Amino acid sequence: MRVAIAGAGLAGLSCAKYLTDAGYTPIVLERRDVLGGKVAAWKDADGDWYETGLHIFFGAYPNMLQLFQELGIEDRLQWKEHTMIFNQPDAPGTYSRFDFPDIPAPFNGVAAILGNNDMLTWPEKIQFGLGLIPAMIKGQKYVEEMDKYSWSDWLKNHNIPLRVEKEVFIAMSKALNFINPNEISSTVLLTALNRFLQEKNGSKMAFLDGSPTERLCQPIVDYITARGGEVRLNAPVKEFLLNEDGTVKGFLMRGLDGAADEILTADIYVSAMPVDPLKVMLPEQWKQMEFFQKLEGLEGVPVINLHLWFDRKLTDIDHLLFSRSHLLSVYADMSNTCREYANPDRSMLELVLAPAQDWISKSDAEIVAATMEELKKLFPDHFATDNPAKLLKYHVVKTPRSVYKATPGRQAHRPSQKTPIANFYLAGDFTMQRYLASMEGATLSGKLTAQAIAEAHPQTESQATKIPTISQPATNAATV
Ligand SMILES: Cc1cc2nc3c(=O)[nH]c(=O)nc-3n(C[C@H](O)[C@H](O)[C@H](O)COP(=O)(O)OP(=O)(O)OC[C@H]3O[C@@H](n4cnc5c(N)ncnc54)[C@H](O)[C@@H]3O)c2cc1C
Repeated sequence: MRVAIAGAGLAGLSCAKYLTDAGYTPIVLERRDVLGGKVAAWKDADGDWYETGLHIFFGAYPNMLQLFQELGIEDRLQWKEHTMIFNQPDAPGTYSRFDFPDIPAPFNGVAAILGNNDMLTWPEKIQFGLGLIPAMIKGQKYVEEMDKYSWSDWLKNHNIPLRVEKEVFIAMSKALNFINPNEISSTVLLTALNRFLQEKNGSKMAFLDGSPTERLCQPIVDYITARGGEVRLNAPVKEFLLNEDGTVKGFLMRGLDGAADEILTADIYVSAMPVDPLKVMLPEQWKQMEFFQKLEGLEGVPVINLHLWFDRKLTDIDHLLFSRSHLLSVYADMSNTCREYANPDRSMLELVLAPAQDWISKSDAEIVAATMEELKKLFPDHFATDNPAKLLKYHVVKTPRSVYKATPGRQAHRPSQKTPIANFYLAGDFTMQRYLASMEGATLSGKLTAQAIAEAHPQTESQATKIPTISQPATNAATV
């Protein structure tokens, strides 16, 4: 059976990978000339990589880690010390850490929180702990119910001092969905806390050892093609063509460089496109259906990823840093964190600018100038001096619509991978799975799509069982 998949992001590639395992022949069709979607990366004229986003892999990513193992590339994940490091805005150039000791969960998380006295006072820690009690008792059901509140409202409802939000959760909200606590759904924060506190290594972080396009996406493509599948770049799907009964007849492929459009047919069709282009492409006939109407409630959030190369080393920290800057979210000195970008003499900072709403239409020069101002606070020794570090070059990557904006109420708008159309499925981080909008969520969604296809359209009886175990936290698991 041929399965046509629109989109070669992690969701589309994961779907194709697991379909090949189950004996199907996937044909992945990617609009752009680069693999990876939101993990795509490019090499500049000097041979330096720049990326759509600074990407962190967590210990709490079971499906992603399983995929690395299946591809035999686990050694490409560079695991860092088990800690979270925050800049201290009141003392520029200094850091505060949450160190997770090597003891079982949730004690290592509790020890990390209790051990940090720079950011939270004892009464604040106690108040926050008490606030989490309903979540502990009621579990995942409660986490889902809290989707009606923003994180700011949730904290207020639990009498947690505003300082806790300011000290810790502005940085975490921006890192998780590129928006502030007054906008983000409580479900997102509670899900992250849940995974970080329930699993010993849940919050342990890894960097990939090079560009995600070459080091992660290409091995998936090699796996697929070695087993008879196909991945085509520069292959934009223009339209879903329908049969009279509303099922898909084919993908109309846009002809490039003056070539005529062509029809691609398959037995089954998957959209692994982000939700924004999917909504635009929905056929009129489908738009009347409640399943597809719900998608109107989902929309990508803007974000900007910056890469700044300097004439000297700014830090030796080999980890992700939470900037706690108004302008920026997380950042890392990639010359320390990533093997392929390593440089013992010069730093390359990769920084995420969020929320990016007010910046997305500004020029690269304006964005870099504002970021350089922030660096005076992050690295005063190197920028607020007579001999400031010199910016050698930069790349700015803007994504006006990235992952879906996880404001309160979005959970009800996330679709299942199976649709009401018998031969049409969805994959993508926005589809329903418990890891929200992340690389893990995208990978898991692709696996769930492959499983749904194998169940509904088996070629042999054993096919569905060829898709390895799907790891999703159980719905009744206690939160912390
Ligand atoms: C700045 C930034 C930082 C991030 N940091 C992290 C992180 O640290 N950890 C983490 O887990 N996640 C992170 N993410 C989120 C993560 O990158 C995404 O959740 C994930 O990669 C989404 O994968 P996807 O396959 O669902 O969608 P996408 O990657 O968007 O893939 C969709 C694909 O569909 C293609 N497409 C669109 N239209 C068509 C068409 N008409 N025809 C054919 N193809 C089409 C697109 O070109 C794209 O390749 C970050 C994202 C960004 C932007």
